[in-house]
Amino acid sequence: MTAPPDWSADSALIHAGTRRDQADPVIPPPALTSIFVSAGDPGSDPGYGRNGNPTWTAVEHALGAIEQAEAVLFSSGQAASMALMLALAAGRDRILLPLDGYYNARALAAKLRPHGAQPVLVDQQDLAGIERELHRGPALLWAETPTNPLLRVADLARLAQLAAAAGAPMIVDNTVATGMLQQPLDFGAIASLCSLTKSAAGHSDLILGAVITRDPALLAELRGWRTLAGGIAGPMESWLALRSLKTLPLRIARQSATAQQIAAYLSGHPRVTAVHYPGTALPTLDVARAQMPKGFGPLLSFEVTGGAAAADAVVAAARLIVPATSFGGAESTWERRGRWPGEQAPASLIRLSAGLEPAEDLIADIAQSLG
Ligand code: PLP
Repeated sequence: MTAPPDWSADSALIHAGTRRDQADPVIPPPALTSIFVSAGDPGSDPGYGRNGNPTWTAVEHALGAIEQAEAVLFSSGQAASMALMLALAAGRDRILLPLDGYYNARALAAKLRPHGAQPVLVDQQDLAGIERELHRGPALLWAETPTNPLLRVADLARLAQLAAAAGAPMIVDNTVATGMLQQPLDFGAIASLCSLTKSAAGHSDLILGAVITRDPALLAELRGWRTLAGGIAGPMESWLALRSLKTLPLRIARQSATAQQIAAYLSGHPRVTAVHYPGTALPTLDVARAQMPKGFGPLLSFEVTGGAAAADAVVAAARLIVPATSFGGAESTWERRGRWPGEQAPASLIRLSAGLEPAEDLIADIAQSLG
């Protein structure tokens, strides 16, 4: 069902896709079909499974309810990014991307150069530099906050002002925070991007992505790209995401509290030379508090003495934390980020995703791994 407007996002997430007719299953099964009954002229029904699927629609209602907007679900965060770049770069010369954001967004823009738009890397903390770049010609501003993997916070209100003054649309990769902690559309972004693979679905069992927007023209364009390019979500993954989204508010609150405790512990550790977390005493703390009033998310990173080899040894020594990439799952994971070719991270940087284990257990495991 679609949530009535007076429901909170938390209630909408729990009831998205459910039905209330006599003998309906409370949890509807995934619509595992490639075709739908359809006679005569193609109408509003999907007809063919690349055009639509009720299980996607339920996930889209849930995601839309979080940000008081509408969502378009894709097969992955990258498929969502590609559609967004194609939809918004038309008629623009350049895409401004954060030099320290998710490295595959930079790689995608460089490979795709959608409609001829050239990628330009910018420092999101350098507002004067961004303003200059925005006024050099029609551009799309691709923001990300907090960034992966350095968790730097960009000032969305200021970036949106600069983009608006230059007539540039701004999108925000909201994967780390999710709409539960941060609502980029309220700050003036035309769209927010979410890889559900991470915090949003949060069980490390699927790959999906979505764009969330309040702009009807962009919505239609994104749906058009999805149908044409075929980056569609599988019904089974969509069903798993629907189930997982019910607990997003609880999971992200607990993970944020745990990450904050771990960041405090690491800040006092003699082997740790830097801790990166939006909720620590950084110059961006006030901006982070204003943008992320409910918490700072599950992800943090830190640097250790001894370089890459020492960091690899720390990761390998863990007994509870899983050595693996990605983030936002129920199980805590960590990795030395610089092991990925193309990543711009300090050599000894370890990125840690706080899961749902008790903070004391995680801190004990970190202590023995660092020891
Ligand atoms: N955005 C961010 C910030 C990410 O960390 C990732 C994946 O790591 C993506 C987008 C891409 O998402 P996906 O892996 O679902 O394609």
